Amino acid sequence: MKKFVKKSNDISIDQYIKGIEKRDRVLLAQAITLVESNAKQHFEKAQKIIEALLQNKNSSIRIGITGVPGAGKSTFIDSFGTYLCEQGYYVAVLAIDPSSQVSKGSIMGDKTRMERLSRHPNAYIRPSPSGGNLGGVSRKTRETIILCEAAGYNIILVETMGVGQGEFVVREMVDFFLLLVLTGAGDELQTMKKGIMELPDLVVVNKADGENMMKANKAKSEYNSILHFLSSYTKDWETRAVTASSIEETGIADIWEIIKTFEKQTKKSNLFYKRRTEQQLNWLHDLVKQEVYRHFYEHPLIKDKLNLAEQTVKTGSKHVSRTALELVNLFIEHKH
Ligand code: GDP
Repeated sequence: MKKFVKKSNDISIDQYIKGIEKRDRVLLAQAITLVESNAKQHFEKAQKIIEALLQNKNSSIRIGITGVPGAGKSTFIDSFGTYLCEQGYYVAVLAIDPSSQVSKGSIMGDKTRMERLSRHPNAYIRPSPSGGNLGGVSRKTRETIILCEAAGYNIILVETMGVGQGEFVVREMVDFFLLLVLTGAGDELQTMKKGIMELPDLVVVNKADGENMMKANKAKSEYNSILHFLSSYTKDWETRAVTASSIEETGIADIWEIIKTFEKQTKKSNLFYKRRTEQQLNWLHDLVKQEVYRHFYEHPLIKDKLNLAEQTVKTGSKHVSRTALELVNLFIEHKH
């Protein structure tokens, strides 16, 4: 029989909190839907839930995973996530997909991409939030991380496609960042965006199996020599390249060992916690920006005058900067 699912408006904040703490997946999913909603009353309810849940101090590790389309991200997450679940961890998989606004397609919209993992009772997979600007998408992901951690998920995998600004956004909200690459380092480096090679804590040459094995080992050496000349994103940590096969499931356990070493080392040096504190500050500023933005554009006077202001800019009868300042001043004068 189909489980009766209450509408989100009928559920109290307290019910959400208690449900999430008990790892009730239905309530967790509904709370994430509140976080992702652009409606004001949902936003406010979601903030109250998050505020209460932030009191719980759960230890978790947040791992970002990136790579160009076809690099094997979903196959890797399927193997790696299942491996972790079998070790007794609780794994949540989230995604940031800034390109979905343009293409309307969304990574992980199709759950069958991680078929094995999605069936595991210890795993929770959430497709990427859509709509809104990149700032909105990253706020939603940050808050979803908090909800998943409160529900007891202690490994958070945040996937992003190697296009757009996704890597930079994800790097900024995780503890460890993993770049999946294909064989043929030279070819790939040419298509890789500037600065990406400086972001990861580990480079994984995927598809190291069958006939591809030799090429993968060669790519690993090439990447290692390139990485040697770049400065690492994480202080006192040397980013290196390893090989893995998501299909044959080789290299998966070694990758987890590397991540555990990283966690131990950065916790010992305090960098782990320092990074999290910096990320909290970024979150604070993002939220402030977003709220100010929302209040501005939702103000009745601004709504009323915006059209006219746009016209004056279009026709050139008034300069952009003057028009902008007039609007902002109008908002400040009438903000109550
Ligand atoms: P994504 O776009 O980065 O999520 O890539 P996918 O996980 O969808 O993988 C792209 C293709 O590569 C699929 O056809 C996979 O079956 C294949 N693939 C992924 N990982 C491996 C691997 O470790 N070995 C081999 N031989 N193929 C792989």
